[in-house]
Amino acid sequence: MSASSAALTMDRTIAARPPAAIPALDIIANIAQVQLTPMAVEIDEGHYPLEIMADLGKAGAFRFHLADGGHRFDLAISAMETISAACGSTGFLAWCHDVMGLYLDQSDNAGLRERLLPYHAVARTFGGTALSNPMKSFAGIEPVLLKARPVAGGYSVTGSLPWVSHIAPGQYCAAIAQIEVEAGCESHEVMFLLPFDGRARLRTCPKFSGMEGTSTWGITLEDFFVPVADIIADPVKPFIARIRASFILLQTGMALGVARGAIADIRAVHGHLAHVNQYLSDGADELEPELDALRARIMALAATPFDTSRDYLLNVLDARAEGAELCLRAAQSALLHQGASGYLMTSAPQRRIRESHFVAIVTPAIKHLRRLMAQLEQDPSPAQEQGR
Ligand SMILES: Cc1cc2nc3c(=O)[nH]c(=O)nc-3n(C[C@H](O)[C@H](O)[C@H](O)COP(=O)(O)OP(=O)(O)OC[C@H]3O[C@@H](n4cnc5c(N)ncnc54)[C@H](O)[C@@H]3O)c2cc1C
Repeated sequence: MSASSAALTMDRTIAARPPAAIPALDIIANIAQVQLTPMAVEIDEGHYPLEIMADLGKAGAFRFHLADGGHRFDLAISAMETISAACGSTGFLAWCHDVMGLYLDQSDNAGLRERLLPYHAVARTFGGTALSNPMKSFAGIEPVLLKARPVAGGYSVTGSLPWVSHIAPGQYCAAIAQIEVEAGCESHEVMFLLPFDGRARLRTCPKFSGMEGTSTWGITLEDFFVPVADIIADPVKPFIARIRASFILLQTGMALGVARGAIADIRAVHGHLAHVNQYLSDGADELEPELDALRARIMALAATPFDTSRDYLLNVLDARAEGAELCLRAAQSALLHQGASGYLMTSAPQRRIRESHFVAIVTPAIKHLRRLMAQLEQDPSPAQEQGR
């Protein structure tokens, strides 16, 4: 199966729509406030909140950016922002779920899309994304860790990935493997659905400093058969060129949400600590206009999520990096503003510090983003031709 050029000619400009009340966003905000906020500590400590993900899915949180939702990436990012402001771990699960939906939505494999996407889009089934390693590989940072061998009716895949979230027995994720080729032939990669039906080995991860409720596992595959029916993209690079910017742009929802939550933490102690907190930098009145300006830039970028131009990708990378940096500053400032109460292990500022660290290191990490921006600035050829 190969990526059809027809799919590449999709409408690249999603017309700006007038602002309107979006009832689904109100329902999502209510779930975040009533269900997620009280559970944030438990999730931080390891509870995997599938029951809340199911309610968010029912409310429409994971289908805005799909064809069925009108490719409203602005709304998908807004929903993720609301979720992340209540709980960064669940914000990350929302991103994992969203991008898995994006791969299915953009796949040329109509059979797979019709089989899985209607359930995935409303979170009746759950699955994440194992693309960190290939994304770093395409940026020249590390080799592809999964290897595929063509066999009758599909591929046989072998290899290990150190950590993949939002997976569990009965769930699934998307993964990429490199095809092993004969000497002299050109190698390429394939993206496939990886179901956790008992054939893949799930390994327990060491304890992380945060994100413990994201059901993160190591994966080992040994001669794992992938039928043609489960191929998402083959070859994968044209597919990645098409979805890479939207994959990265969606992550800004996590950054906006964690930063907004931190600003709320700063305001929460204004009444009794303003007399001394006024001597701190990065107060709420400084951070909020920066966050609003960044949000406006992100929402403008969200209008053309499938733009494959170099300038668009540069702007997305820049917004994603700025989001991570603002998130780090806001979380640090919230802890300084709350003082000892923010240093309690179960306090929101303490949790947000660790959530902001994750926003900064999850692929593409700040260092990866800066490397990509430096590469693009040196090389003026269009991004989609660069195999990054
Ligand atoms: C909680 C958590 C959840 C994650 N969820 C996902 C996910 O859902 N999907 C996904 O694709 N990726 C996931 N990742 C990986 C993440 O996106 C980054 O790739 C990872 O944090 C390292 O990125 P880095 O660019 O900083 O690489 P570096 O830290 O610079 O590391 C370089 C390489 O060494 C590997 N490495 C470093 N330390 C170890 C170790 N102790 N054991 C094994 N390998 C190691 C890294 O994976 C990386 O490939 C997750 C990571 C964490 C911590």
